[in-house]
Amino acid sequence: CSGSFVDKNVYDWSSEEEETDGRARPVQVLVVKDDHTFELDEAALCKILLAEEVRDREVVAISVAGAFRKGKSFLMDFMLRYMYSQASDEWLGDPDEPLTGFSWRGGSERETTGIQIWSQVFLVDKPDGSKVAVLLMDTQGTFDSQSTLRDSATVFALSTMISSMQVYNISQNVQEDDLQHLQLFTEYGRLAMEETFLKPFQSMIFLVRDWSFPYEFPYGQEGGMKFLEKRLKVKNQHEELQNVRKHIHSCFTNISCFLMPHPGLKVATNPHFDGRLKEIDQEFINNLQVLVLWLLCPKNLDVKEINGSKITCRGLLEYFKAYIKIYQG
Ligand code: GDP
Ligand code: MG
Repeated sequence: CSGSFVDKNVYDWSSEEEETDGRARPVQVLVVKDDHTFELDEAALCKILLAEEVRDREVVAISVAGAFRKGKSFLMDFMLRYMYSQASDEWLGDPDEPLTGFSWRGGSERETTGIQIWSQVFLVDKPDGSKVAVLLMDTQGTFDSQSTLRDSATVFALSTMISSMQVYNISQNVQEDDLQHLQLFTEYGRLAMEETFLKPFQSMIFLVRDWSFPYEFPYGQEGGMKFLEKRLKVKNQHEELQNVRKHIHSCFTNISCFLMPHPGLKVATNPHFDGRLKEIDQEFINNLQVLVLWLLCPKNLDVKEINGSKITCRGLLEYFKAYIKIYQG
């Protein structure tokens, strides 16, 4: 995979009141509060998107969204490793190195619903000679009750509107309710945007974790595409099911799917597991390498477009603020 990564641009967070040491970290830019109102940390967002090195660069915004405790942050941390290694072949690193970055953990207690952004925006040279800014977003929803479904829908909609690539992280299979949620979430997004003849969103990737039927559809992207084609086929179905599928097709320019194997019992159940590769199933690691390269290699990074125009970091900030206002009512 060609292209190269431009050297680090570590921001100085030391002026923040909270304890930081200038190192990059996840920043909670959007929080859904207990009373279901939204709060945008505009100052933090400005600091990230208006940093001198990146503000006038076209932006690639990659988001991972879905329910809690399904391995989103765990995946994001590997994406960070790839970005920090500047796409080196050895990006996976030492087998004994604990995984760090976005916080990920076991257990089942509740986490904040909202959007976190990695404070460092990466500059990447694409093979066509352009230099783009890459923003990584980790988003989380609850999906567990009617009231939180609305919160999750808003978070999902916003992250889809803001990103050029939305990774929809789901567990085990693409169930009918995953599709219904997606319809609800994207409808939330579409209603908030100006009407255009273009599809409102760019890439949607269904990422199925713990896929357990590789003999039917093999792990990876090709198996995923065949599987998804079957799941999304609009034929001889009840009208409601057909509508969900038509809606999803009408919203995204690209739709794809990747089937991931189970990472092994240590990852899934051991409370002391700290993310080291040594304790992750090899089959998972092999597919992780393919997945991360496919998502992030410089030639596959697509700049965010809104109504057909490419957006810079500065532009993205303005959209973010405008979209939030709509949901704040
Ligand atoms: P998030 O809430 O979606 O961000 O989930 P986390 O990344 O915090 O992970 C939640 C738990 O799932 C952790 O204990 C991880 O070790 C574990 N985990 C990570 N990836 C996977 C996976 O692909 N399958 C399974 N079964 N567990 C995973
Ligand atoms: Mg998480």
